[in-house]
Amino acid sequence: MSAAFPPLRQELQGIEPYGAPQLSLEQAPVQLNVNENPYGPSPEAAADIARSVAEAAASLNRYPDREFVELRSALAAYLDTSGGTGITPDMVWAANGSNEVMLQLLQAFGGPGRVALSFAPTYSMYPEYARDTMTEWVAGHRAEDFSLDLDAARDLVLERRPSVVLLPSPNNPTGTALPPEAVTMLCEAAASYEPGGLVVVDEAYGEFRRAGTSSALELLPRHRNLVVTRTMSKAFAAAGLRLGYLAADPAICDAIRVVRLPYHLSSVTQATALAALRHAPELLGRVDDLRAERDATVTWLREQGFEVADSDANFVLFGRFADRHAVWQGLVERGVLIRETGPDGWLRVSVGTPEEMTAFKKALTDVTKEQA
Ligand SMILES: *Cc1c(COP(=O)(O)O)cnc(C)c1O
Repeated sequence: MSAAFPPLRQELQGIEPYGAPQLSLEQAPVQLNVNENPYGPSPEAAADIARSVAEAAASLNRYPDREFVELRSALAAYLDTSGGTGITPDMVWAANGSNEVMLQLLQAFGGPGRVALSFAPTYSMYPEYARDTMTEWVAGHRAEDFSLDLDAARDLVLERRPSVVLLPSPNNPTGTALPPEAVTMLCEAAASYEPGGLVVVDEAYGEFRRAGTSSALELLPRHRNLVVTRTMSKAFAAAGLRLGYLAADPAICDAIRVVRLPYHLSSVTQATALAALRHAPELLGRVDDLRAERDATVTWLREQGFEVADSDANFVLFGRFADRHAVWQGLVERGVLIRETGPDGWLRVSVGTPEEMTAFKKALTDVTKEQA
């Protein structure tokens, strides 16, 4: 056997797969590391989901609806209650998590000789979609407060002429939302060259935005090259479902159908998502509590003297630590798992239940005292 087994693509050799450390609940009872909603479905909602899956099970010999028409209608109706207006089913596309949606966007609109662009620090999966689709990856930089310098951002877009601009709003890991003028400016810049680029605003955390922060869904009628992605993994409390989706011009949804795998959304996934959407008010019912807990966490961390990024999401980035790994490790030893991510010196904590946040605060106080 030669040394190069398996014969992996050159650029993938030696690369660690993406993923936060997954510890058991025994190892870390307080899990605040992957921005999940800490509140699961009620027994009634879980039972309704199970009934829907049982119905789907009766016809598992058949392939699912390839165009998931019913689900697209339900998602369109939901978006109209969540910042959108006049979203029609042909403007909606879905896949197994918004990660798959964005990978499909790069499969369809990126590729060799094309550029995907974002602004760091940002979601660490973006460069991986680019790598996997052989799209060139370009990362500009955010300002000191993690906002976008609009003039510099436009200059970079005009210079590199990306086919796809990927921008989370709120941004992960910083929590920073994009103002509507930034989205408009980038859409106009990306429409100003041939054949033009798509601007993908990743609103994975959109439902957690603070009052007064708008959704890019509002701008869809004005920009044909704008794509807004959402997920059921975060506010919707359904990370285990794996359902992400987008809203965009119907021609964009149509184009993605060329690259999607046959029947990519299983009957079980479609049945589960439809049942979850019927329980939307309940599943989303704790979003306001989580936003209040987020704001309280920001305030508390600032009172302790930490530097804290403003957050429109369900997590908070705070620092700065000379040795953030030691702080992360100290918290794990006290049963609290957070995320070592973002710029050096910073840590990210997801917003959990009040009990979980109390445990986090106590552990952080102990660890920083011990390490002082
Ligand atoms: C969590 C997250 C997603 C959602 O991923 P899913 O595949 O839908 O679970 C998308 N974008 C960002 C920036 C995220 O943090």
